[in-house]
Amino acid sequence: MENTYDTVILGAGAAGLMCALTAGQRGQRVLLLDHAEKAGKKILISGGGRCNFTNTDSRPECYLSNNKHFAKSALSRYTPDDFLEMVERHGIAWHEKTLGQLFCDGSAKQILAMLLEECAVGHVEIALGHKVDAIQHVDGEYLVKSNGQTTRTPSLVIATGGPSIPKMGATSFAYEVARQFGLKIIEPTPALVPFTLSHDEQLFRALSGVSTDVIVRCGKVEFREAALFTHKGLSGPAILQISSYWKRGQSIGINFLPDQPAGWLIDAKRTRPRSHFRAVLGQYLPDRLTQALAERINLAGELANLSDKILTEIENKLANWTFTPNGTEGFAKAEVTLGGVDTNGLSSKTMEAKNQPGLYFIGEAVDVTGWLGGYNFQWAWASGRAAGQVV
Ligand SMILES: Cc1cc2nc3c(=O)[nH]c(=O)nc-3n(C[C@H](O)[C@H](O)[C@H](O)COP(=O)(O)OP(=O)(O)OC[C@H]3O[C@@H](n4cnc5c(N)ncnc54)[C@H](O)[C@@H]3O)c2cc1C
Repeated sequence: MENTYDTVILGAGAAGLMCALTAGQRGQRVLLLDHAEKAGKKILISGGGRCNFTNTDSRPECYLSNNKHFAKSALSRYTPDDFLEMVERHGIAWHEKTLGQLFCDGSAKQILAMLLEECAVGHVEIALGHKVDAIQHVDGEYLVKSNGQTTRTPSLVIATGGPSIPKMGATSFAYEVARQFGLKIIEPTPALVPFTLSHDEQLFRALSGVSTDVIVRCGKVEFREAALFTHKGLSGPAILQISSYWKRGQSIGINFLPDQPAGWLIDAKRTRPRSHFRAVLGQYLPDRLTQALAERINLAGELANLSDKILTEIENKLANWTFTPNGTEGFAKAEVTLGGVDTNGLSSKTMEAKNQPGLYFIGEAVDVTGWLGGYNFQWAWASGRAAGQVV
């Protein structure tokens, strides 16, 4: 390991690798350093092992941040098509799963191998198993102390992600560096994370393993995807999505029958007057969910004997079944972290700290959090590219 580099990047994850290959291919001498024994661990486990590497619909509106405009610049200058061009150049087969989500046909290992090959083209040096002990800024240079050595650089990029999934080596290191240099942190909280339920919510707890298509709402935000009942509470794409918008104490509404038009139960009464509510519900929902909801609603007798008013009330209840999570499964299970380095302190064009020349923050470390479905990698690529072009 040489001692002076044009650029040192801390964190060999998605954002760090993209920044390194970009700067390296511009002719910069780059050191990419990580405390883990392997680069890109989250890439390897992403998308169930197939890496949902981007989303063709990566609009700024699909990202949460205290400054909703911050992500626009980087996202517009490195698009899903740009990443796809690299994927295709490396002969990696891919497919669109749903809602613009692009996955490898084969394995996430291909994406990591591609990024490492591109780093090799740029002669990036990669130092794994390197814990950073201290960072200092002296006479316009950053001094990075790690494994008993001091490395000097005028450009230091922090790409160490957020604290989600600590057992994979995730840390809050980026926030410590940000604070050391006077940047603010937007409180980090777990996002894209399952909800837990109190013992009062027996209905859901009894349904572990059942999955159903729903519309889920929190305040004015809603998502239509699958929800999955778990032994601890609720998960599945719809729930993970809404969890990023949920604040403790808020209630969540679920529409169990998103395809049924208003008045469907009254129509059923007209067309099938002798049917029981449970049988009608069972046409649309999984058996165990039907049984649980029917027990809760407790509507005995044939539909013909129930008033339109009662049927409308039931319909409304099924379209907005409310519950209040008692929490989430926390950083241990969160796919990403909401919050992070306050974007007010960063340039949206370069990711450089406004008050600290030569210091950059990229990827999940920054207060920009995408929806589920490839948006978070797209942010990692775009922000990594933005910094890599200017360091
Ligand atoms: C299970 C799971 C599945 C996911 N699937 C997808 C998906 O399919 N599509 C998608 O878009 N997003 C997905 N995500 C989210 C995505 O992985 C992250 O948004 C993305 O990895 C963030 O990139 P990053 O480079 O900022 O951080 P990371 O990829 O987390 O990389 C940070 C790097 O910094 C290193 N590091 C941490 N602390 C230190 C330290 N103190 N010193 C040195 N190095 C350090 C880590 O070892 C790591 O290599 C998934 C996340 C999880 C947990």
